[in-house]
Amino acid sequence: MSERVIPLIDQRLVNTVARVPTALVAPTGLLGDALGRPLRDLRISVTDRCNFRCSYCMPKEIFDKDYAYLPHSSLLTFEEITRVATQFVAHGVQKIRLTGGEPLLRKNLEILIEQLAALRTTEGRPLDITLTTNGSLLKRKAASLKAAGLQRVTVSLDGLDDSVFRAMNDVDFPVADVLEGIEAAQAAGLGPIKVNMVVKRGTNDHQILPMARHFKGTGIVLRFIEYMDVGATNGWRMDEVLPSAEVVQRIHAELPLVQLGASAPGETAERWGHADGSGEIGVISSVTQAFCSDCNRARLSTEGQLYLCLFASQGHDLRPLIRGGATDAELGSAIAAIWQGRSDRYSELRASLPPDASTGTRRVEMSYIGG
Ligand code: SAM
Ligand code: SF4
Ligand code: SF4
Repeated sequence: MSERVIPLIDQRLVNTVARVPTALVAPTGLLGDALGRPLRDLRISVTDRCNFRCSYCMPKEIFDKDYAYLPHSSLLTFEEITRVATQFVAHGVQKIRLTGGEPLLRKNLEILIEQLAALRTTEGRPLDITLTTNGSLLKRKAASLKAAGLQRVTVSLDGLDDSVFRAMNDVDFPVADVLEGIEAAQAAGLGPIKVNMVVKRGTNDHQILPMARHFKGTGIVLRFIEYMDVGATNGWRMDEVLPSAEVVQRIHAELPLVQLGASAPGETAERWGHADGSGEIGVISSVTQAFCSDCNRARLSTEGQLYLCLFASQGHDLRPLIRGGATDAELGSAIAAIWQGRSDRYSELRASLPPDASTGTRRVEMSYIGG
């Protein structure tokens, strides 16, 4: 078993300033990257703070009381986020996911949702607007989020057993409160709701079946995510990854499953239906089965860095353009040029990297750019 190395580095300092190309790129909604992948999905991180300390994402030893979070002045304002999002939409984005950190910690988030809900795709349709949350504030906020124009939510929940869940969020947060948040979201019409469970072998894999039983027949889609080597602080080890194939086998042994087709191109989850027709589950195999070939996701950090891959070590800083007087056409062209140059496919390449390649690598944190 290899030793854990937890390097102390600040990923936020590594970036290149986005440049306006000499020839502006007119938006057609059909932008492709260097591997021909379209731009469809924009994930926007609205805060780098969180009230949980999940060990796989914001381990307490690093994200302690002395950790320097971004000052408020460096966060993009809602108007700035909407302006950037408008350019992304003109180049083909159809879906926006708000994330973080914990997005519901950002004050007045409903105002941003209202602004984004007013945008239209190049075909004139409303965007698909969703949000990923740890659920802790959902009970309080579900109704106002829906009223602002949010369509659905994804709630992260790593187990049903209260002691397992309290240990995984590492702030002793009770599972009952998240379950109440999910109920409130259902009552508010924020569906179809997805629940994401990160599976760590030896930590919460005994929660797979209780979770599958609990959400079967509720209309909620439970998705199991392989524990990923994102960031540089979680001390990731391959032996703590439980391959999705094993998740499916374990569930299938008790609750028979049949494989379903993908719901949309670029969809990260492999879908499985309960054989008795009582709903579906999904598995996201970011480690054991790469899905880079149709990855259509861009990520915008809280302070305006554009990341082209979850495993990127470098962002493209849009803020000098946003705050430096660039026109919308210039900002949109800079974004287009960055996407056109994109060739990231980390998960596909992971298998050919040395086994310790992800230990100590300079890489952006998940809590900074969101999932
Ligand atoms: N705080 C919100 C939440 O937890 O839903 C949103 C941000 S969180 C970074 C987004 C998603 O990333 C969550 O579903 C979380 O479980 C997942 N995540 C974080 N670190 C991960 C890791 N190392 N491997 C797999 N998933 C991870
Ligand atoms: Fe917070 Fe979400 Fe990361 Fe957990 S996964 S520490 S809830 S940002
Ligand atoms: Fe997309 Fe990067 Fe994940 Fe591949 S590794 S699917 S390119 S985010």
